[in-house]
Amino acid sequence: MKGAVAARQCLFQRGMNIDPICPMCGSENETILHMLALCPEAKRIWYLSPLRLEVEKYEGVGFGEWCGSIRVLHKDPHWWNILFAILWGIWLRRNVWSYENRKKDLMDVIQKAVSVVGDYEQAQQALSSSEGRHQLLESKWKPPTQGMIKINSDAAIFDNSAVGLGGVMRDALGEVVVATCLCLRSKYEVDVAEALALRHSLRIALESEFRKVCLETDCMKVFSHLTKGCAPATILGMVINDIMQLARGCQSCSFSFVKRSGNGAAHALAKLSSSYGDLRVWMEEVPSEISPFVMADLASAFE
Ligand SMILES: [Zn+2]
Repeated sequence: MKGAVAARQCLFQRGMNIDPICPMCGSENETILHMLALCPEAKRIWYLSPLRLEVEKYEGVGFGEWCGSIRVLHKDPHWWNILFAILWGIWLRRNVWSYENRKKDLMDVIQKAVSVVGDYEQAQQALSSSEGRHQLLESKWKPPTQGMIKINSDAAIFDNSAVGLGGVMRDALGEVVVATCLCLRSKYEVDVAEALALRHSLRIALESEFRKVCLETDCMKVFSHLTKGCAPATILGMVINDIMQLARGCQSCSFSFVKRSGNGAAHALAKLSSSYGDLRVWMEEVPSEISPFVMADLASAFE
């Protein structure tokens, strides 16, 4: 479309000592439009192709205009994929004819074009469906990989201007290694409270000598700040910065998101915090109120 293809007429116009006549039909100058569409050799390919294109029905003094007049009638991307693949095939066939003196079969050009487009479209589909899978949000609790500890955290906002923070740490078998809760007598925004719960849980994990951790939250905002590694200049940002600072003290630290349905144990701990006056940490056990949530996670994770 930019006139850059080395058809004979183009080279001739640029001053090359070359015969501008089409090497295939020998009857007209080889412009880009002639070579790719109007030459009888190209015409037959277009007509035999699945597009059944009658090239003279479209107008234009140059190749770009010719494409433009086709564009008015055809909008389907798949149709255009085939058109471009055939254009490429015609160009390659012309080169073999011109430089190697070989005549490639017309049907080979068409079949090759169709198969290239098929491969391309299949690859595109596979790509978009795998991206789609990544975007599906996890709704069930899943155990961490061997050797890692997954830390689920959550916050509960109480009406009497207090927030509860809960955290539960489990290994690859789904066994609780540490559980904790803490009630703070202050008012916080929900996102800030969620980040505070995560920070509190991470501190307890580090104090318990766990250094390979996966931090899981049901707060998308906190998750997204942590994965991007950026903290806004707000209270939330300050807590996010603290978490990233603590994460540097880990051997490995990853972040994951789970819907609230997969974060029940941490949520129950956060709520339970109001019945204790101060910080609580349980090693290798959980309060009886939390057990059903842990069991439910286990059942769904290993079902
Ligand atoms: Zn020709």
